[in-house]
Amino acid sequence: MKKKKLPERTCVGCRQVKAKKELLRVVRDPLGVISIDPTGKRAGRGAYICPSPACLEKAIAGKRLERALERPIDAALLETLKEQLAVEPSGRDNV
Ligand SMILES: [Zn+2]
Repeated sequence: MKKKKLPERTCVGCRQVKAKKELLRVVRDPLGVISIDPTGKRAGRGAYICPSPACLEKAIAGKRLERALERPIDAALLETLKEQLAVEPSGRDNV
């Protein structure tokens, strides 16, 4: 068996390095629209974040998300991203 190195990315919220598949991609598409990209394949500039609202808030409070995406993030967009994060099933523990 060949051992493959998993791609790793740093969460822009808590700044922990994690396997790429454990993180969510936030993308700014060529039109400048910022959204969560569950496929990780959308065109545009991306940043990675844990599937957790706490990390999203930290990333925005520390201005790391807007710096990574080179776009200001306003309160309305924050709410939209939180909603998209909430519907992303990988961020849920099945209780
Ligand atoms: Zn995180």
